[in-house]
Amino acid sequence: MLAEILDGKALSEENLLLMKEELFELIKTTNKRPKLAIILVGDNASSIAYVEKKKQALDLVGCEYQEFLFGKNVSTDELILKIEDLNNDNQFHGILVQLPLAPQIIEEDVIHAISPEKDVDGFTSYNMGNLVLGKESEIYPPCTPLGVIKLLEHYEISVEGKEIVVIGRSHIVGKPLAIMLSNRNATVTLCHSKTKNISFHTIRADILCVAVGKKDFLKGEMIKKDAVVIDVGFSRDENGSISGDVNFEEVLKKASYLTPVPGGVGPMTVSCLVENLIKAFKKTI
Ligand code: NAP
Repeated sequence: MLAEILDGKALSEENLLLMKEELFELIKTTNKRPKLAIILVGDNASSIAYVEKKKQALDLVGCEYQEFLFGKNVSTDELILKIEDLNNDNQFHGILVQLPLAPQIIEEDVIHAISPEKDVDGFTSYNMGNLVLGKESEIYPPCTPLGVIKLLEHYEISVEGKEIVVIGRSHIVGKPLAIMLSNRNATVTLCHSKTKNISFHTIRADILCVAVGKKDFLKGEMIKKDAVVIDVGFSRDENGSISGDVNFEEVLKKASYLTPVPGGVGPMTVSCLVENLIKAFKKTI
């Protein structure tokens, strides 16, 4: 039997429509709309494409946004000044800095400048710290890990007591995902590029989340039969063709559930951003 596909695209669309309905009522009673400030640096094609997807989702739901475009030579200080302006501007409920930034920019300082109340990406140390403390409902959890959790919940895949292996420990995906799964009582192993013998870990996982950024990283032989496999990876080759981190054909034959790329975690990330923005908006009305 082939794995059941975890359809992130359909779930994301469903969630966006629910948010649209909820927001329609909120706009009627408050005469206000959630508004996101989007900071985009340079002309990286992938960043522009990600921002387009986010704008489409915001449009669909009825949120507003304004883009602030900077050339690739912008300095850390210039970006921080803009963020400080936006922090104090009440018309904006959220601030998104599209990553990655240009190499001369100190990304950590830029993210740190965002007020935690407007940090709808959930990357500031305030939001991360509270995530570790298990206070997810009070903060904005990072969108990609939140999207993975929502996908698992929707398909009623319980994580409690499960052996879960997360591969990749970035601040935006792997690490917060491992924490969020641990907050839900999973037994989590976090692997990375210095992990010895990755297969030793992957083969015993009930649920595997792969966020490495390398095509075909996870092969069929590396997983247990009937494992649940979440492919967070997203890369584009020189011809523009998209792939995740999982060898889809091999893993499809062995897993019980599998996310496709595209159409899995990516759309969930986008709908979770809109959800965080609406959460920020609600705190102001
Ligand atoms: P990242 O910052 O480059 O982190 C990659 C992680 O993979 C690092 O922790 C690295 O280990 C680990 N790694 C690299 N080679 C490895 C190996 N051979 N064995 C085990 N671990 C290895 O990437 P990221 O930002 O987390 O993104 C990961 C992937 O997810 C990318 O393809 C990205 O495009 C995608 N992504 C998708 C979404 C979405 O919405 N679908 C959102 C964000 C990111 P070290 O820490 O030791 O270097």
